[in-house]
Amino acid sequence: MTTGRTVLVTGGNRGIGFSIAEEFIRQGHRVAVTARSGEGPAGSWTVRADVTDAASIDAAFTEIEAALGPVEVVVANAGITRDMLLMRMSEDDFTSVIDTNLSGAFRVVKRASKGMLKARFGRIVLISSVVGLYGSAGQVNYSASKSGLIGLARSVTRELGARGITANVVAPGFIETDMTAKLSETQQADYKRSIPAGRFATPGEVARVVTWLAGDDAAYISGAVIPVDGGLGMGH
Ligand code: NDP
Repeated sequence: MTTGRTVLVTGGNRGIGFSIAEEFIRQGHRVAVTARSGEGPAGSWTVRADVTDAASIDAAFTEIEAALGPVEVVVANAGITRDMLLMRMSEDDFTSVIDTNLSGAFRVVKRASKGMLKARFGRIVLISSVVGLYGSAGQVNYSASKSGLIGLARSVTRELGARGITANVVAPGFIETDMTAKLSETQQADYKRSIPAGRFATPGEVARVVTWLAGDDAAYISGAVIPVDGGLGMGH
C-alpha cells in the first residue's frame, strides 16, 4: 500500500496486536499502539490507553495526532475473554467483555472517524473471531461481542463508505497467543482435530491479512468478514 500512513493498533503490546504493529512497521508506516502495560514493537509509538474509557482513548488519539499526524488506519484489536457457562455467567462477566470488545471498538472507531472524515480517507479493521458467527459454548459474552463488531463495521460502511473510508472485520480462528495458551493441552488437541488445517495459526498470519485489508489493493472491500481460521468456521 501507499507507504507512510499513520496507523493505530489497540492492544499492541502483545499477541496479535503486537504482530500487526510489527507488520505495518515492516511495510514502512508510522505506527502507534495503545497499551495498558508494556510496550509495542521496536519502532512503534506506545501510548497508555484503556478502551473502556472514552477520555483515555481521546487523549491517546490527541497524543498520536501530535506525534505522528492524523490516524489514517485504525485496528481495533484489544479484547478479553471471561468464559463461563451461561447459567453461571454473571452480569459483570457479560458486560465487561462487551464493554472491552464491542463498546471499546465503538469508542476507538468513533474517535478515529473524526480525522478520517476530514481527510476523506480511512481504513478501519476490527478484530473479531470465528466464534462471532460460529458460536461457542461457554462464550456467550465473547461471541456476542465479536458478532456485534460485524454490525458495527457494516453500519460504518453504509454511513462513511462514500467518504473514502472502509470498515472490515477479520475473524481469526485459533492463534498462538496468551489467549489460547490458557487452554489445556487436551483442549488444544481437541480443537486442532476440528480445524481443517489441523493447526493453530501464528499471529503473523493474521497480521498480514490486516495489512493487506488496509492497503491499496483492498480499497473496494468494505463491510466484509475475512476469516483467518484454517477453515474452522467455513459456511458461517
Ligand atoms: P492477548 O490476550 O494476547 O492480548 C489482548 C490485548 O488486548 C492486550 O494487548 C491487552 O492489553 C489488550 N486489552 C485488553 N483489554 C484492554 C482494555 N480494556 N484496554 C486496552 N487494551 C486492552 O490477545 P490476542 O492477541 O490473542 O487477541 C487479540 C484480539 O484477537 C482480541 O480481540 C481477541 O479477541 C482476538 N482473537 C484472538 C484469537 C486467538 O486465538 N488468540 C482468536 C480470535 C480472535 P494488556 O496487555 O494491557 O492487558
